[in-house]
Amino acid sequence: MSIIELKASSCVRSLSVESQCNRCEIVCPTDAIVIGENPLPSINYSVCVGCGACGGICPSESFKLDDFSSSNFFFNFLEDEENLISCRKNIPCISALSVEHIISLAVLKKEIVFDMGHCDGCEIASTCHKQILANHEEATYLLEAMENEAVIKLENISYEDDKQTDRRGFLSAINLKTVAKTKKSFEDEVKKASDELTEHTLAKTDIALLKKKKIPEKRTLFFTAIKRVQTPSQFHIVEADEVSFTSQKLMDEESCTACQMCYRVCPTGALTSDVKNSKIDFDPFLCIKCNICHDVCEPNAIKMSTAYNIKEFFEPVVQNLISFNVRRCNECNVVFSTNSNEKLCYRCKAEEEEARELWGIE
Ligand code: SF4
Ligand code: SF4
Ligand code: SF4
Repeated sequence: MSIIELKASSCVRSLSVESQCNRCEIVCPTDAIVIGENPLPSINYSVCVGCGACGGICPSESFKLDDFSSSNFFFNFLEDEENLISCRKNIPCISALSVEHIISLAVLKKEIVFDMGHCDGCEIASTCHKQILANHEEATYLLEAMENEAVIKLENISYEDDKQTDRRGFLSAINLKTVAKTKKSFEDEVKKASDELTEHTLAKTDIALLKKKKIPEKRTLFFTAIKRVQTPSQFHIVEADEVSFTSQKLMDEESCTACQMCYRVCPTGALTSDVKNSKIDFDPFLCIKCNICHDVCEPNAIKMSTAYNIKEFFEPVVQNLISFNVRRCNECNVVFSTNSNEKLCYRCKAEEEEARELWGIE
């Protein structure tokens, strides 16, 4: 049975305690993933069934199975003459694929088939089946908006392979004591035998990685696939709520305080500034809709657009969301950016406000 691994430095929750991301916890069918007091997701390995749904839904590809890589699956599947995706053939669960993978495979193969024949009665259907249907609906909606004729079929094929009866193997091995015999390594056995939550923390070496902007592999695959399809006759506008993996942003210029938080935490570099911190630019090509820029923005100045233009898939353009005044602080002479006529930098202003409060000065 597979074992799930969290790359702590990639999880957006490691970037700010304000992050509200809990997609992995919601999709996990056995409650093996818990987000509690510890900022990062914790894992109860004894109930994890290795479906990989958390990996499929994670915006930053932070969860991975030790024996399944969606990128490797992608390339193997492209070479496969058949177009069937089944939990008894080539994937732990179809929910392990992201919408980006599904659209990319569909446009490159013209037709793909999801084998839904094993879903009835499957122990993990409670969340995984729903997720597969949601991913299918979103991918189909976007293919239509792209005027692409690729088809994603849902069929009750119930594929069986004598040599590989159950890709996950969990149905027959759900009892820990019986599974122990089939574990790959002693370490994995120990992890899974414990009913306790394994907490994740950041190692010293991870801290440097936090600042590194990373584009998930699924995004690279997606844009490589899109480059190979015909541009639609017109760029359709779709409901942004129906798109789970990217977004378009708007800025409430009045509310933005130029605090720099949003582009500093953005994990992919979709939000950026220049050396002087004189502006905020947004590159829709890189946005993974992780939401952390919204979670950290205290005045709620950065907004998600309610509409999404399919043009961004074909001709992404970096947009300027706001420009700031760059000036020297009257008090300490430090250069700072501001969205108002403020004469003091943030530190001097905070000190002044503290002093006023302390001495009761209006
Ligand atoms: S879905 Fe991914 S980014 Fe979000 S909390 Fe889970 S591991 Fe972290
Ligand atoms: S949009 Fe929000 S987080 Fe970004 S600089 Fe403005 S106030 Fe700060
Ligand atoms: S722009 Fe915001 S939602 Fe998009 S990747 Fe950056 S932080 Fe995440």
